[in-house]
Amino acid sequence: MANDTNGSGHGRRRLPLHWQITLAMVFGAALGLFLNWGWSHRSTRVHLTDDWFLVVEDSPDRIDIRITDRQGNVVHDERHGRVQPLRWIIEPGGPIPTLEELKDETFRLGGRQWRPFELFQTYGRSVARRIGDIGDMLGGLFLRLLRMVAVPLIITSLLTGVTGLGSAARLGRMFAGTITYYLTTSTLAVLTGLFFVNLIRPGIRPGVVAQGVGGKQVGGDLATVLFAQVEKLIPTNPVAAVADTDFLSIIAFTLAFGVFTILVGGRTAERIRELAHAGFEVMMAMTLAIIRLAPIGVFCLMLYATATQGIGVFRALGWYMVTVLCGLIVHGAVTLPLIVRFVAGRNPWRFAQAMSPALLTAFSSASSNATLPLTLTCAEERAGISNRVSSFVLPLGATINMDGTALYEVVAVLFIAQLDPNVTLTFTQQVMVVITALLASIGAAGIPHAGLVMMVIVLQAAGLPIDRVGIILAVDRVLDMFRTAINVWSDSCGTAVLARFDPGGEEAVIPAAAVPSPEG
Ligand code: ASP
Repeated sequence: MANDTNGSGHGRRRLPLHWQITLAMVFGAALGLFLNWGWSHRSTRVHLTDDWFLVVEDSPDRIDIRITDRQGNVVHDERHGRVQPLRWIIEPGGPIPTLEELKDETFRLGGRQWRPFELFQTYGRSVARRIGDIGDMLGGLFLRLLRMVAVPLIITSLLTGVTGLGSAARLGRMFAGTITYYLTTSTLAVLTGLFFVNLIRPGIRPGVVAQGVGGKQVGGDLATVLFAQVEKLIPTNPVAAVADTDFLSIIAFTLAFGVFTILVGGRTAERIRELAHAGFEVMMAMTLAIIRLAPIGVFCLMLYATATQGIGVFRALGWYMVTVLCGLIVHGAVTLPLIVRFVAGRNPWRFAQAMSPALLTAFSSASSNATLPLTLTCAEERAGISNRVSSFVLPLGATINMDGTALYEVVAVLFIAQLDPNVTLTFTQQVMVVITALLASIGAAGIPHAGLVMMVIVLQAAGLPIDRVGIILAVDRVLDMFRTAINVWSDSCGTAVLARFDPGGEEAVIPAAAVPSPEG
């Protein structure tokens, strides 16, 4: 199995999996950037009826769809009870609609019902967007495969792990250790973010403009969000939790089931352990098969991300991005490796290599949840972490341990505060932001853009207007990729740390072929 994940094959020598994925990522990004550079602009004018024309201007920074008459004047029509121009402008970070929201829009013309989204898809898209969209569809299939195995894998893996622990007291110790690890690393992450945002001060650099204000207002207050997480720990219907892929509820119920299995003991516990283990082996085999597709999936996702993103927005928000990235790099390449080296007693570079398929997939998918099956498999099959530890630390970590997100929240909120010359946050207010950011990262789901949604809460805590979140919307996807990789890396390092303190938590030796040699 270790051979499989490593992609070394039998007889014929193949490139190790992590190199396959890295190359796929680089090629996908290069092709996407190439398309973005040369084929991402398109102007179209087509006859809709004898009198009306569809005019579309597509570019990564702006999509302009309008219906005009023969003279080029925009036609007006009654929509949503008001006379409005038949024109839709979509800009990242601009006011709604987004392309997604345009799907519901319709208008009537010449006795027919039209959908601007469909017109754009059929006639208006640039070559880069068309190819990017294909990448999105194919990459989406890969993510569907991962989602398909996620819930059964978590349940069987966690149950095998918990029943393998043999005693509730041991589980309690593992729980305490895991939470301590999560809190320590998340705190270090927010402090790193705080340091860089005060050092670089991206909000008061020349060239930074507060454009695009007008994001959506979402979220609730922090206490409500956190209480909702506590409620999830007690699912009223565990089957519904499975159907809704509610990770926290699934974990809570499986843990309870495992603990009571241990308490009941005897032949019953034996049978449940065997069943869980059998299911786990099959799910692991399925996941390993899916992982072989990771290079294709990552290629497609990267192609989509780079072909369709506007480069222009990066200029205005460059310093902000640099600040977030500096923080993430220091946390991911210095703080966490030091913990792996000195607390877990492992070689961080080799550990990162073993976990790299998961880290690269997290990067390209921007979703900790979708990556979870890969993270579990890499930890067990490539890094030699016992199932007892990884099955506990990783699913819980994907849901509540988000170092990258916490760091990003701090930088983003303080950046927004710096943009406004009338706002100066006192030290106490900054501490408030730090604490709220930490809690908000616990509340964020492991899905793309979850951190952005939670930021509304942090802005509220700092007393800043929440529509300011629109300023940073345009670059959120790119930053999401980086922070998700750090989220998954922190969870992975957690398994190494916990394995050190769980007797037998580290498999005696890392499987020989599991961690490739530097030569590949
Ligand atoms: N996308 C991140 C994750 O899945 C969450 C976030 O938006 O920060 O871990």
